[in-house]
Amino acid sequence: MSDRAGTIWRVSRTPSPRRGKDVPEQLGFDMMPERLFVCTPSKLSSYADCPRRYRHTYLDRPAPQKGPAWAHNSLGASVHTALRNWWDLPVERRDGTALPRLLRATWVREGYRDDEQERAVYERALGWLEAYTADLDPELELLGVERTVAAKTAVLALSGRADRIDARGGEAVIVDYKTGRTGLDTDDARGSLALALYAFAAERVFRRPCRRVELHHLPTGTVAAHEHTPESIARHVSRAEDTARDIVAAEKALADGTPPDEAFPTRPGSLCSWCDFRRVCPAGAEAPVKETWAAVETTPTGPIRA
Ligand code: SF4
Repeated sequence: MSDRAGTIWRVSRTPSPRRGKDVPEQLGFDMMPERLFVCTPSKLSSYADCPRRYRHTYLDRPAPQKGPAWAHNSLGASVHTALRNWWDLPVERRDGTALPRLLRATWVREGYRDDEQERAVYERALGWLEAYTADLDPELELLGVERTVAAKTAVLALSGRADRIDARGGEAVIVDYKTGRTGLDTDDARGSLALALYAFAAERVFRRPCRRVELHHLPTGTVAAHEHTPESIARHVSRAEDTARDIVAAEKALADGTPPDEAFPTRPGSLCSWCDFRRVCPAGAEAPVKETWAAVETTPTGPIRA
C-alpha cells in the first residue's frame, strides 16, 4: 500500500506460532518502510555532476544565494517557450509569421551584456525558429508538448518534462530542443540519461513503444538521434537507480553527523565556471571566471544547410 506522499510500505502478516486463540492476530511491519526516491533526470544528473552542487540545490535550506542569471539560460528558456506556444496555435496559424510576436512575448532579458547584445541574440534566435519551423509539419501528430511523464521502478519515483513527444508509426518519439553553442551527435543522444528516462516513462504513460530519442539543435538545424533497445533503456534506468542509492547514502551520512563537505564532496571540473554556487564553493573559486553572457557570444548565427 502507499500513503499520500507515495511512500511504498512493505507490510506483511507476522506469523505468531504461540498465539492463543483469544489473542487477536496483529499485522506487523517486518521492515522499515522503503521510500522510493522521488526525482527528475536533472536531479540525478546534478548529483552525478557534483555532489556539492546537488546539496546546495536540493538540501540546503535556506539555499546559498545563487550567482546572477546566465544569458544562455535566458535564451534557452525564451526559445523553448516560443516553440511551446507555437504548437498551441491553431494548425492554420502555425507558420513563421507568428514567431516574432511569440518570441517577443516571452523573451527573458536577464544576463545579457547590454541592449545591443540582447537585440542581436534575439534576432539570431528568431532566425533559428523560423528555419526550424519552416521544416516542420504543422499537423505533426503529437502526444505532448512540454509534457510531464512519470514512472516508478523498484527504487525510483521518476518524473520529467519532455520538450515534445511525437507519435510516429505507432511509437512515441522523444524530442529535446537544444540551443547551446556546439552541435550534437548520436553519442550525445545515446548517452543522455534524461532522454532515456523520458523514453522509459513515456512508454508506460502512452502504452506504446518509445525507443527513438532525438536532440534537435536549433542553432545548426541538425538532429542527433538514437534508437534505444529495451536493454539500453534498462541500463540507463539501472544507472539512475545507482545514483539514487548514492544520494540516499550521502543524505543518511549527513543525517548521521558526517560533515556536509564530506558527505557531498566537490567534483571540480569545467562546469565550475558556469556553476551558480561557485561563490560559496572553495573549488569554484579556483575556476576561470565567465561573464554571464559569455556563452551566447559564440552561438552559431544560423542553421547549417547541406
Ligand atoms: S563550483 Fe564546481 S565543485 Fe563547487 S559546487 Fe559548483 S560544480 Fe561543484
